[in-house]
Amino acid sequence: MDAQREVYFNGAYRPWNEATVPLLSHSFGRGSAIFEVIGFHATPAGPALFRLGEHLERFRKSSSLLEMELPLAPEALQEVLVGLVRRSGLQAGYLKLFGFYPEISYAILPPQTRCQLAACIFSAEELTGGGDASAAQGVTACLSRWRRLDPRSVPIEAKVAANYVNGLVARQEARRRGFDLAILLDGQGFLAEGGTESLFLVRRGRLLTPALGAVLQGITRKSILALAGAMGLETGEEPLAPGLLAEAEEIFFAGTVGRIVPVRRVGERNLAPVPGPVTARLAEGLGRITAGLDDHYAGWLTPCA
Ligand code: PMP
Repeated sequence: MDAQREVYFNGAYRPWNEATVPLLSHSFGRGSAIFEVIGFHATPAGPALFRLGEHLERFRKSSSLLEMELPLAPEALQEVLVGLVRRSGLQAGYLKLFGFYPEISYAILPPQTRCQLAACIFSAEELTGGGDASAAQGVTACLSRWRRLDPRSVPIEAKVAANYVNGLVARQEARRRGFDLAILLDGQGFLAEGGTESLFLVRRGRLLTPALGAVLQGITRKSILALAGAMGLETGEEPLAPGLLAEAEEIFFAGTVGRIVPVRRVGERNLAPVPGPVTARLAEGLGRITAGLDDHYAGWLTPCA
């Protein structure tokens, strides 16, 4: 990471190497940092953040589920983030926003409720190490032996660092077994999602995704459902039996990073063509929206030029 890269930290834009957190801070030791990863894309009007309002609303929800008090109102925070994108000079990339407790803490309860904010920007190349062909070629996926976090144990709708050990162990297991990504079942045995991705299936022409409850309220998920409805596709948010992985015509992951990633093999089963026709249509539609080429969805973009 470039030491001079500008980040937002403790109320000001600063160089990257000034943004440090004490070793004994609550968020480092207990994983209590909340976060959002927000994409920004090149449009004819310059870089634009995708669904910024939705991300800030989910951030607020994460904070309230963890009794964290945010130091900035949404409008002021929006201004800070738009400014950070503008100052970066990048046309496309990702912005990661944090709310965390930098105070030294020896106990499970944080010493105060008011959190500190930080945000930084990184490019797609930094994220993937360059040469990520998953959107074009598809990925392999396996059914994980780990279950999705139980909503009776932790607030799974909070994007909080500690929750991500769930996705971490699932991805490690997938890698050990020779697969790219993991699919987790929920506590009831229904399909839930990937470690850090929403899951979609196409079955008899219907676009299916697990109902909310045991899965994160993905913003890409919500956008795809809206887009599919507008395209005249029949959609369903419902409990999905794992057997559907053997029957679905198409399977894809969805998330801010990678947007729509088709699955070319699930377990021992190969899927073809990749991407399937519905996946390809949705990916194309979403690509036009994020590129600022579909006026109908202009409200999903926040210009940063
Ligand atoms: N599920 C989980 C568990 C995630 O961490 C993410 C990434 N935020 C997603 C789904 C996809 O959500 P989004 O489309 O908002 O990036």
